Amino acid sequence: MAEKTPLCFTRLLGHERAGEMLKRSLVTDRIPHSFIFKGPEGVGRKLFGRGFAAAINCRDSSTIGACGICSSCLKFYSGNHPDFMVVSSEKGGIRINQVRNLSRNLSYPPYESAMRVVILEDVHTMRQEAANSLLKTLEEPPENNLLILTADASREILATLTSRCQVVPFCRLSNDDTARILKGHGVSSAEALLLAHLSEGSPGRALLLKETDIVELWKDIVAVLSSGQSGADADIGVLIKLAAKMAELQENLEHLLGLLKVWFRDLLVAARVPACSKETILQFSGVDLELSPLKSWSSGQLFAKVQAIDSAQRALARNCNKLLVCEVLLFKLQ
Ligand SMILES: [Zn+2]
Repeated sequence: MAEKTPLCFTRLLGHERAGEMLKRSLVTDRIPHSFIFKGPEGVGRKLFGRGFAAAINCRDSSTIGACGICSSCLKFYSGNHPDFMVVSSEKGGIRINQVRNLSRNLSYPPYESAMRVVILEDVHTMRQEAANSLLKTLEEPPENNLLILTADASREILATLTSRCQVVPFCRLSNDDTARILKGHGVSSAEALLLAHLSEGSPGRALLLKETDIVELWKDIVAVLSSGQSGADADIGVLIKLAAKMAELQENLEHLLGLLKVWFRDLLVAARVPACSKETILQFSGVDLELSPLKSWSSGQLFAKVQAIDSAQRALARNCNKLLVCEVLLFKLQ
């Protein structure tokens, strides 16, 4: 998602509940020292935080939200507001030296605004040592600073961090809202629907899929896996070449596995719902009909394939050899 997209948090699609919670804190002038924006990646938590920061510091007191034209809002629009910071999460999470630098910065008053806003990304990936250091800042926050922590809803966050922040839940967007956002980024209607479905309501992930070759590789894999007679094995050479391409995706491999899982899950739903034809469900869910398999897999076989993807994801999380994991997975999926 574009870093500098100017958007007031009150107008972000799909986050009405979070919008209401934060609007209330603005109206009543009871803004806590820290929030945790908890939800899936790519749904717009950082964009929302940026919009909220703009709203807090907007010079036009007659609007709830950001007016978009005052000097403070214009700095947010240009991506250069001196009292807005993002502490990015590197591999292995935010590091202790980043937290120390942050607490040093927080000890100075905001440069020109009523409140400095800092977003700390992916606190669920922080190591204990760095999290402990952040806890100290959360316990005694210097005045006129708001910390917004973002965390993945499906992973465990340190309870001590959660207990010191107000939790704001974020959800996946509907396919319609996701597609609408994608169309705003110049994606065609048909592609927007497919990407909305494949990204499972995460516009950020959908845009990443669009910018990379992941969907193309996914289509190649699906074509090979689904062609031919049931029980017939795919060409080993072809599978090995595909596995090598998968391994080359590096950190994006996780996204490709997510797409394969969505596809097998769709087929599983189609196999389990006799009242609907497979075509109806696949069409409804946005999957290209050309990708529906010629092979006929039973529910049990499809379930085993979803489990095989789960087990590949676990192996990758343990840092197993990517190429080997991909080869074994494709053999199991054929
Ligand atoms: Zn303004």
